[in-house]
Order: sequence, then structure tokens, then C-alpha cells
Amino acid sequence: MQFVSTRGKVPATGFGAALAQGLAPDGGLYLPASWPVPVSPASLPDASQLPQIANQLIAPFIAGDDLAPQLPAITAGAFDFPAPLVPLDGGRRLHVLELFHGPTAAFKDFGARFLAESLTRVRAGASRPLRILVATSGDTGGAVAAAFHNRPGVEVAVLFPKGLVSPTQERQLTCWGGNVQSFAVRGTFDDCQRLVKEAFLDENLRSRAELSSANSINIGRLFPQMVYYAASSLRVWREHGEPASYVIPSGNLGNALACLLARQLGLPIADVHLAHNANRTVPDYLTTGDWKPRSSIATLASAMDVGNPSNFERLQNIYPVISSMREAVTADTVDDAAIRSRIKLGFEQLGQIWCPHTAVAAEAYARLPESRRSKGRWILVATAHPAKFREIVEPLLGREVAVPQSLAALFARPVACTEIDAGLESLRAQLMAEQENP
Ligand SMILES: *Cc1c(COP(=O)(O)O)cnc(C)c1O
Repeated sequence: MQFVSTRGKVPATGFGAALAQGLAPDGGLYLPASWPVPVSPASLPDASQLPQIANQLIAPFIAGDDLAPQLPAITAGAFDFPAPLVPLDGGRRLHVLELFHGPTAAFKDFGARFLAESLTRVRAGASRPLRILVATSGDTGGAVAAAFHNRPGVEVAVLFPKGLVSPTQERQLTCWGGNVQSFAVRGTFDDCQRLVKEAFLDENLRSRAELSSANSINIGRLFPQMVYYAASSLRVWREHGEPASYVIPSGNLGNALACLLARQLGLPIADVHLAHNANRTVPDYLTTGDWKPRSSIATLASAMDVGNPSNFERLQNIYPVISSMREAVTADTVDDAAIRSRIKLGFEQLGQIWCPHTAVAAEAYARLPESRRSKGRWILVATAHPAKFREIVEPLLGREVAVPQSLAALFARPVACTEIDAGLESLRAQLMAEQENP
């Protein structure tokens, strides 16, 4: 399978090369050149076998690539933690899909770990190191740092806005050392993203190392995310003979896109409802038909604070007219007050402790008309563990949130980071110095 850029100005490329490049050289995002024949749900393995499901779903995309024979080893390494589907109302209609049992307690571990397993193999024997630059507003940087930590031939630079991530997230960004460098940028998340883009164009930096991005523009993060949608929809299909519908907390739309790809591949998935916070660019687009990207607004569900979602370019490529996009997805927007009250209601009514992102999905589900909710089975996607957002959740519930062992282990590590200005010269000086005195 070949991959083509959404902007169509560069030749098609293979799986491994698309992953290593991240962004296509014309500034576009990679998508498969064609869609494989849909799978028959009956042919897929048991829903608990994530690596086996991944092998079957990803095989057509990796076919013909040097990496293809290594797919089973890649998926075995990436899918080594579960994605439980928990029934909420006595198992009748509603479930929650817990995607936070990985090393950094957010769904981004799935994508980051698959990318790390793949890129380490793509780069094996390369003469120059691979340098991954990642701008983060919180969860991405931690997942990427954890996944690439101590991998040979790879160096990671994480850029986050100083003082604008949660204390728990900051620990996850700065506790690694070794091949991971953390930069607290005196600026905003938008400054961090701009710095990464500028670094990509910088001849000096390009001459020293191969540069790549691990942000959700990298198609290597989308494939593994299809797998938990496949597994959970199969489970519902096999138990109840009905397709599953999803409510997905969304920001850059990478997680939602993976669900749409899984449906495209033939999995028994019905509705896909995008739950956005007060950053309402996508819900507004579906209502008005006008695409109006804007600056991001800070909310309680900070990992979704995106005013100009990067994966929209892929979505629009797949559904070029608004009517086809409206058939494919629906969307809603949830403000901070509703997030707070839904966190309380989730605990009072269902005994669930939700992170603010998951609460956005739960609120969007509660607002769906009864006629839609009573049709089929619904799955709320839980994107992060509530302990990552203790500062928000604990005062609302008046109780402590238990910290999972993986997070507790990170809290025990020493932290280190370098503060820099939001200009390319500062970043370049740091990265070049690092390379001269490794
Ligand atoms: C990144 C993130 C999201 C948003 O996912 P996208 O793929 O950017 O839409 C939602 N919740 C949490 C906890 C996240 O870390």
C-alpha cells in the first residue's frame, strides 16, 4: 500500500517512510492511496486479543513495505496493556471504553508505543540519529517520551508551554533524562507548535539528524488507534448482535479519525459523535458549513484545547462535501460548567470517576435525543485516567482519586528540564550543543 499527501504535491510513499516523515514534504498529511477490501467481522479474532486484531487490520496497509514481516513483533510490543469495555447501566445500552491503562494513563500511549516500535525498526542501522520533535499541551509529550525512552538511535525533544500544563503532566514531561530532553518554552502551546515547524525547515538542524514528528499528524498514530474501536465494536456485536456507536472526546480529531477508519474497514460501528469542549470549531462547521479555525481557549479538558484541529485536513479529504461529512459524524460542544456538573453526576449516578475529557463525552451523550440513545449500543470513550487531573476532579468529588501504579512510578523519578525563549535560535542552540557534547 502507498500513502499520498492530502495536498497531492509529492509522490506516493510507503508505510515506513510515511511514519518516519510524519508530515508530508508538501505540508500535507498522509492518507492511504486506496481503501482495502472491508474485513468481515466474523473473520476477526477474539476481542481480547488486541495484537492479533492489529495484525489483521494493519496488514493491508503495511503490505509490500520492508517493515511488513515485523508487524507481529511491533504489535506485540505496542499492545501490551488492555482496553477494557466496562458496562455502565447493568450492561443494557451504555459502556465506557477505558483507554488509560498504559504507561502514562492516556489513550495516546497506544499511538506512541506503536510509533516507537515501528520507527526503531525503520531506523535500525541508519548512520544518522532520528530526532523526534514534539510540541505538547500535556498528554502527547508524556506518551511519546515514555514510548521512546532508552531506544537506540532516537533522540526526543519535548516542547511544552511553561506553566500551562497540569503539575501531573509536567512531571510526565520532565522525568525521563537519557535520550529525552524537555524544554519549558516561555510562551503558549501555539508557540511550541510553531517552533517545531520552524525547526523542521532549519537547514542546520536538518543536516545533523533526521527530523520527525510524533504529533497526531503522524499516520503511524492512527493505525493502532483503530484497534480498540475494532475490538470493542466486535465485543458488542458478538454479545448483542448490534453495532456500537461512540462518543469521542475530541481535539485534534486523531482519535475520532481512527474510529472512522475502523468503520470504513467494515467493523460494526454505527454513529460517531464528536464531543468537543468550548473549542467549538468543528461543531460550528457541521452546523454552518463555514470552516473558521480560531485560537484555542483554555478549558478544564486541556488536552482538547485545539482551535484549528490538524486532522481536519484528513477528514475533509475523505468527506469533501459537507453533506457527506454530516452523514459520517455529528458533534457537540460542552463548556467548563457542564464538565464540572457531569463529573459530579457520573459519580453520584454511576459510581464512575471521570477525567474532564471523558466527562465531555458523557455530557454530550446525555444531551443526545432519547430516540438516538435508545437505538443500538453506545460507548463513551474514556481518554485519560482521572488521577492525571486530580487537581480538578478531587475538589469536585470531595475525595481522593487513587493513583495507578504506572503514574506513581513516574512520580518517584527525578525531574529536569531546560527553560527556553519561544524563538528558534534558543531551541537550535540547545539542540546543537547537545549533539556536540552527547
Ligand atoms: C489528546 C487527548 C484528547 C483529544 O484527542 P484527539 O485525537 O486530539 O482528538 C482527548 N482526551 C485526552 C485525555 C487526550 O490526551
